[in-house]
Amino acid sequence: MRKPLVVGNWKMHGSREMAKTLCAGIRAAGDAYIGVEVAVCPPYVLLPQVADSLRGSGIAWGAQDVSEHSAGAYTGEVSAGMLKDFDTRFVIVGHSERRALYGDTDVLTVGKLRQAATVGLVPILCVGETLEERRAGSTEAVVARQLDALLGAADAAQLLSSLVIAYEPVWAIGTGETATPDQAQAVHAFIRARLGATAADTRLLYGGSVKPGNAGELFAMPDIDGGLIGGAALKCEEFVAICHAARTRPGRS
Ligand code: PEP
Repeated sequence: MRKPLVVGNWKMHGSREMAKTLCAGIRAAGDAYIGVEVAVCPPYVLLPQVADSLRGSGIAWGAQDVSEHSAGAYTGEVSAGMLKDFDTRFVIVGHSERRALYGDTDVLTVGKLRQAATVGLVPILCVGETLEERRAGSTEAVVARQLDALLGAADAAQLLSSLVIAYEPVWAIGTGETATPDQAQAVHAFIRARLGATAADTRLLYGGSVKPGNAGELFAMPDIDGGLIGGAALKCEEFVAICHAARTRPGRS
């Protein structure tokens, strides 16, 4: 059974005050989360505070990135073990902003994913095409390439067992432009078919300008198991409404 999952990615936004207020607001709307798994991914420095604010609520927390190394002389990096130490449940890897701005390759992303899985974190692997790639008709080829770095790994079966995948068309992230439910469903179905044996159990999220007004129709699609939410995750009412929309989506088996 694939339980719906909604994850907020705060990106490089927030402060201690903002995190306190937002976590309290999200926590207060407890009824909206029945049957839905909910998590927020603040910047690293806010993780301890978010953990303290959400502990015992059933709402999880995650990080936005992780090192591909377990420990050592890697100035500025944060290891999967350190995240686990703060009871972190999820970690986003391969977000398009990491790929485009910081040179995260498919292979590096799998290295990060492996570190996360090794310590028992749930990696959220982001895949998705740019507008140019979609216009060129290469959406499936791009997503396949991003997935194949994982599927071709010797330990692929192990990595796939704990994984969440987020399909995030780059042209829809932070732009206000959303893939239509049919466009999103088509790529989700393609991803599920490519995953093979574990596909039926793997949760596939859609990300890209999800708002309360479009969440319901996206989450109603058969292969969309929830959302990775950017901008709307910073607004308590919007995030809670999106979680509520996932609640109306029955778990799929
Ligand atoms: C994201 O950053 O993963 C994202 C989906 O952002 P937004 O919802 O703002 O498009």
